[in-house]
Amino acid sequence: MISVNYKFCPVCAGDLDFSKFGDNSPICLKCGFKFYQNSRPTVGAIITDDSRKVLLLKRAKNPSIGMLQNPGGFLMFGEDPKDGLIREVEEEVGVRVSIGKFIGMYTDEYLDDERAGTYATLNLFFEAKIVSGKPRALDETDEVSWFSKDEIKLEELAFENTKQALKDFFANQ
Ligand SMILES: [Zn+2]
Repeated sequence: MISVNYKFCPVCAGDLDFSKFGDNSPICLKCGFKFYQNSRPTVGAIITDDSRKVLLLKRAKNPSIGMLQNPGGFLMFGEDPKDGLIREVEEEVGVRVSIGKFIGMYTDEYLDDERAGTYATLNLFFEAKIVSGKPRALDETDEVSWFSKDEIKLEELAFENTKQALKDFFANQ
């Protein structure tokens, strides 16, 4: 369930009031600052090889440690989505990609730290091809492998947005 759990105003450290708006956007009781909350943007790559297999990685950290996901991650503040996706893929699997077609956008949720609550996410997916390097497990990653459509088991995928993006990707092949 999407719910942030912030205690104090980021401007003046006053107490926050969540009761006025039912949208996870609290108001500061001291200075009146409205602390707007928005879905956090992520970017994901469906990377394919020449036999149309998809590159997936096994997560080395929680949430969903040991489950599979596509390479990708959160955009930095103000970062261009395609630049962010190239950066994330390099960090996680050590390859340089060129970004292809846009696949779709999907809302989801992500629990990063139980103390802070569960964020809403907005996940943008692109097709991608490797232009240099050989995939290997790096940051936050245990293993990387290529999967054909039939080898991907939905119950092994960490996130709902990955399932939706793969479904749309394969539907357009
Ligand atoms: Zn305040």
